[in-house]
Amino acid sequence: MKKIILKTFGILLVAILLLQIPVTMAADSVNDLKNQQEENADKIEENKQKKEEITAEKNQTISEVEDITTQIEDYENQISELNTKISELNTKIEESEKKIEEAQAQYDEQKELLDTRLVVAYEQGETSYLDVLLASENIVDFISNYFYISELATSDTELMDSLQKEKEEIEKAKTDLENSKRELDTSKAEKQSITTQLEQTKSEKNAKVSQLTQDEQTIQAQIDELAEANKSLDAQILKKQKEIEEQLKKQQQQKPSGGNSSSNGGTSTGGAVSSSGFIYPVPSGYRTITTGITYSSGQYHGAVDFGSGGINGQPVYAVADGMVVTAQNLTSSYGTYVIIAHYNGLYTLYAHGQRGSLRVSEGQSVSQGQQIMNVGSTGNSTGPHLHFEVRTSPGTYSCRQNPMKYLP
Ligand SMILES: [Zn+2]
Repeated sequence: MKKIILKTFGILLVAILLLQIPVTMAADSVNDLKNQQEENADKIEENKQKKEEITAEKNQTISEVEDITTQIEDYENQISELNTKISELNTKIEESEKKIEEAQAQYDEQKELLDTRLVVAYEQGETSYLDVLLASENIVDFISNYFYISELATSDTELMDSLQKEKEEIEKAKTDLENSKRELDTSKAEKQSITTQLEQTKSEKNAKVSQLTQDEQTIQAQIDELAEANKSLDAQILKKQKEIEEQLKKQQQQKPSGGNSSSNGGTSTGGAVSSSGFIYPVPSGYRTITTGITYSSGQYHGAVDFGSGGINGQPVYAVADGMVVTAQNLTSSYGTYVIIAHYNGLYTLYAHGQRGSLRVSEGQSVSQGQQIMNVGSTGNSTGPHLHFEVRTSPGTYSCRQNPMKYLP
């Protein structure tokens, strides 16, 4: 069980490593540019979230301002009603004052009249019962005189009393009006104070809304800037990719035949070139295939093994011009191995090379027949042999082809 897990993990690891090949191939700078783009995209996402939060807060504040505005309007209406009532009360108070003045004037007039009469009566010596009696010519005259004076006095006094009473009543009513007015004034002052506070809060909240609007704009500007930067990175990536393509094409044109006549391997590679433009990856005399595309068990091998006697240490050749996309030393699996991308869209893989024998590195251009390493037995191998694969895509096992169809 543990072994299976380890094996699965190993395959997965190799798959991951192989899947990275196109990135490696397309030069480091493309990778860097793409990383920068991803970073920018993350920042854009972050900023968008921040902006949403700001917008939500802004909308909340705007709704609060609307509530406060309604409250202020409500208070202003109440204050306006109070003003009307107060003004009505003021009119009534003024009317009361006028009435009080009138009553006072009437009272004063009446008092003067009475005083004058009494003075006249005194002066005439008719001020007392005895005076009246003595001054009367007869009893009828006496009664008439007496009643005249006392009646007069009584009616004057009654009138004055009633005037006094009326004046007091008006004064009391006036005091009531003044008290009511004072209450209304207090209520008005309270409402005005609340209105002032609400106005203050409203202006603070309005300031907050402007600040949040500004924050929104700032963050949007940042988002736009990042989006712009990514657009420019897109253009740069496209340009870089085109450059790489052109470079590959140029190299292909320089060696149009794909022949081995000019190759610099130094050793004879055996000459023959297949219709696919491939030569053998091992020198003549070592081209016996010990395991074909399927194992004797029937299981798919996905490769051919060159494993004839004496092959250990023999040079391994690039089967055609291309660019090295992987040159690695694994302790298991393929061991020391190389993957080359060719201009016809195919990839070749060379495995189990001798440790330390790698002559190429990733990103390097290679020519057909150029030695890339020596045959060995590193990784998952039981004896010296070259494991050779042809793929249509560098990272996928399922696209491994039968190498025999491509070799001479
Ligand atoms: Zn093999």
